[in-house]
Amino acid sequence: MGYEYDDQNIFAKILRGEIPNETRLETEHTLAFNDIDPKAPVHVLIIPKGPYVCYDHFASLATEAEIVDFTRSVADVCRMTGVAPGSGGEGYRAIANAGDHGVQEVPHYHLHIMGGRGMGPMISRQG
Ligand code: 5GP
Repeated sequence: MGYEYDDQNIFAKILRGEIPNETRLETEHTLAFNDIDPKAPVHVLIIPKGPYVCYDHFASLATEAEIVDFTRSVADVCRMTGVAPGSGGEGYRAIANAGDHGVQEVPHYHLHIMGGRGMGPMISRQG
């Protein structure tokens, strides 16, 4: 039980500077960069610098400083990309996939911020 962090995942390599990224914001505990395969005009991934596998792992074990830094970074990214409704934007969708059922591809916690177009229904209904 519990989480084991694989430090060979692609976002760990981005954090170590081993592969490039289009950085949108960097703080002490957080990095935000453009998704390499954007599904919307705005598609930014926000990740903690710490070794957390998914959202609940981060929410359980991150320090208060990391959580505050990450959460404020989300606000900054929404504002700077122009999608924050409170700053004249038209809105966005925030998604955190986890595990097999969540169809998480990269096992380093990341929040997708997507916008710049209508994002459609949240999820398709299944029988
Ligand atoms: P997940 O399915 O794990 O929630 O999403 C992983 C996301 O990471 C996908 O949207 C994919 O396009 C993105 N991604 C995968 N590899 C890279 C990469 O090397 N660089 C960047 N910027 N994004 C990546």
